[in-house]
Amino acid sequence: MLKLNRSIDLHKKAERLLPGGVNSPVRAFSAVGRRPIIMESGSGPFLIDVDGNRYVDHILSYGPLILGHRDRNAMDAIAIATGNGIGFGATCRYEIELAQLIVSGVPSMEMIRFVNSGTEATMSAIRLARGFTGRDKIIKFGGNYHGHADALLARAGSGVMTLGLPDSPGIPAAAVADTLVVRYNDLEAVEEIMAVYGESVAAIIVEPVAGNMGVVCPVKGFLQGLRRVTREAGALLIFDEVMTGYRVHNSGAQALYGVHADLVTLGKVIGGGLPVGAYGGRRDIMQMIAPSGPIYQAGTQSGNPVTMAAGLATLSVLSQPGKWDGIEARTKSLADGIREEALLHGIPAKVVQIGTMFSVFFTEEEEVTDWEAVARCDTGRFAHVFQGLLGQGVLIPPSQFEACFMSLAHSSAAVSRSIEGFSRVFKHL
Ligand code: PLP
Repeated sequence: MLKLNRSIDLHKKAERLLPGGVNSPVRAFSAVGRRPIIMESGSGPFLIDVDGNRYVDHILSYGPLILGHRDRNAMDAIAIATGNGIGFGATCRYEIELAQLIVSGVPSMEMIRFVNSGTEATMSAIRLARGFTGRDKIIKFGGNYHGHADALLARAGSGVMTLGLPDSPGIPAAAVADTLVVRYNDLEAVEEIMAVYGESVAAIIVEPVAGNMGVVCPVKGFLQGLRRVTREAGALLIFDEVMTGYRVHNSGAQALYGVHADLVTLGKVIGGGLPVGAYGGRRDIMQMIAPSGPIYQAGTQSGNPVTMAAGLATLSVLSQPGKWDGIEARTKSLADGIREEALLHGIPAKVVQIGTMFSVFFTEEEEVTDWEAVARCDTGRFAHVFQGLLGQGVLIPPSQFEACFMSLAHSSAAVSRSIEGFSRVFKHL
């Protein structure tokens, strides 16, 4: 039994001060029906809570910590950058070096603009696409998440051809009136919509591998199809790689699938664990951004030297031979191990792994390709497994609909520990 006395006391205090006791909803553990755990520190593959319990961490700050907690390279880079001053309000050397590293590694990225979050990145990319094309409509996919900007927090109305509806109180209907929501992996529906609205569509934005309904991969031809229909209609294709960048492949999903977008958004990993976002792509499009062009976008903290240094150190480590491949190989071992344990104990589960990300869906279905399939998963069973894993010292995100992550710090021993944790929990389900 976990002892969580200090955690409970602190969360009670947090609840009086912060809505839900958290600063981002998923951290409240609502989907698994328990009080969240207050964390004290991280070390390599582990998180340690305020009561001293230690967990193999598969949340990793929801993706950014691809080197693990307190990686020496990142920490040293942060210390050195901090020693030189923590903000200049002017371009610094790190921004240029990080831009160079990203532009040289990520296909179709000719220029980049750094911002402070993934939300800012997608919001700005949409404005740029609208400004560049002179069109208003955008297409997004059910179960894809692009941050919390109004135009992108839309859900599908009924029927393929209806416009999006606000997905939260506080979003005016007008803010999502130009957002069309289509089923993920449904190219036919996209083609139908493009046949009607194509000439007024500025962009299709897509998570090339969805990570925000759990990990759902694109079916064969889906991304290629999006590339084709956008090109035919004179619309832009935006790959939201805030999560998948440096995670599904060391150069992102574009490299993995051989499909090149016009604009790409990044975040998470490229800040080495500090707040960050970025968007970039074709030079002729990016030149439309202020001050080169007329489309306005700005940020007090954009390109902050400490964040840029942390990102630079992180991507430099990942570019060393064998590093990224090593994380991928251990993620595969972990996914294989969990799959075998599920089979052994007769637990219907679909384990999806790609690059350094994975999900365990509790479902009888053969394939999980869209939000509708994900929504049919046994979330009660997921909550049970989550609780059991905590007791085994393994932490996964507290929702069936979040991706799990691995890092360079997750050694084979950490992988074995996680598999053992799943095994013990499955045995008693
Ligand atoms: N886009 C994707 C694909 C994401 O996964 C996220 C966050 O999880 C965002 C955008 C928003 O990023 P942020 O939370 O940094 O605003």
